[in-house]
Amino acid sequence: MSQTRSEIEALLRRHAVMPRRGLGQHFLADRNLVDKMVDLAGDPARSRALEIGPGTGTITRALAEAGFAVTAYEIDERLRPVLEESLAGLDVDLRFQDATRLDTREFGAGTDWVLVSNLPYQVGTSILLELLQEAAGLGRCVVVAQREVAERLTAGPGSKAYGLPSVITALYGQARLEFRIPPQVFLPVPKVDSAAVSILRVAPPEPVRRLAVRVAAAAFRKRRKMVRSSLRGVLPARAEEILPRAGVDPTERPEDLEPGAYLSIAAAVLEAA
Ligand code: SAM
Repeated sequence: MSQTRSEIEALLRRHAVMPRRGLGQHFLADRNLVDKMVDLAGDPARSRALEIGPGTGTITRALAEAGFAVTAYEIDERLRPVLEESLAGLDVDLRFQDATRLDTREFGAGTDWVLVSNLPYQVGTSILLELLQEAAGLGRCVVVAQREVAERLTAGPGSKAYGLPSVITALYGQARLEFRIPPQVFLPVPKVDSAAVSILRVAPPEPVRRLAVRVAAAAFRKRRKMVRSSLRGVLPARAEEILPRAGVDPTERPEDLEPGAYLSIAAAVLEAA
């Protein structure tokens, strides 16, 4: 079973660990929410779970008890004795390693991976986006993030939250904002609201998608200019030639283009090469 607030407090006290805000250590002290995340993770008989930042092991434990084999990356060595205690006897491959330096080849096709994580907020989005772009075996993600980040991951064109993270997520998956999470359920209590997001992988990493991400990254640097000028000098042929071939109106603004439009631009670039 996942941990209650008093169990988390007792574990931290017993091992003399003070949570570090700099590492995004806001532990999820709500069994119901942990259970919901595990339910969203899918079938343990079909996939292996990857957790970034197990913390005191509350989600890790619930995943392992639901039948998932779990690989978990934790940067904070102080949590080693905590995790050894809370995960004793469970099928968890614990690695004390910085998850910003993951070798994504470990999550290649062959095993179906599900990422389940209450993400550390400083590095969580970039780790998630890197995995989506590079880990061919990643089939699904269930993550808790700051509400603002969750909105960015799930936003569509025309909204303020729409940007490069939204395009990357949509190019590789179908994202859904599952539920909002109030600050009070974390220990210690953060200043912001959070939300759970699920992403179902719909496309594998491939050159045309990687190029679409590079095009979108360049376009969003000048998100309010017409796309023909925000992409001037970025595309190998003149933007005025490539964009119509991709079926994209050159006078549109990057922030109004659907993720699929970036894919069409990338496909037109590859065709022209
Ligand atoms: N999963 C636990 C929970 O829900 O209670 C903890 C979540 S807490 C928001 C984020 C965790 O990520 C912390 O345990 C923190 O030490 C860890 N972390 C922070 N940066 C990390 C990194 N670069 N690599 C691996 N773990 C990291």
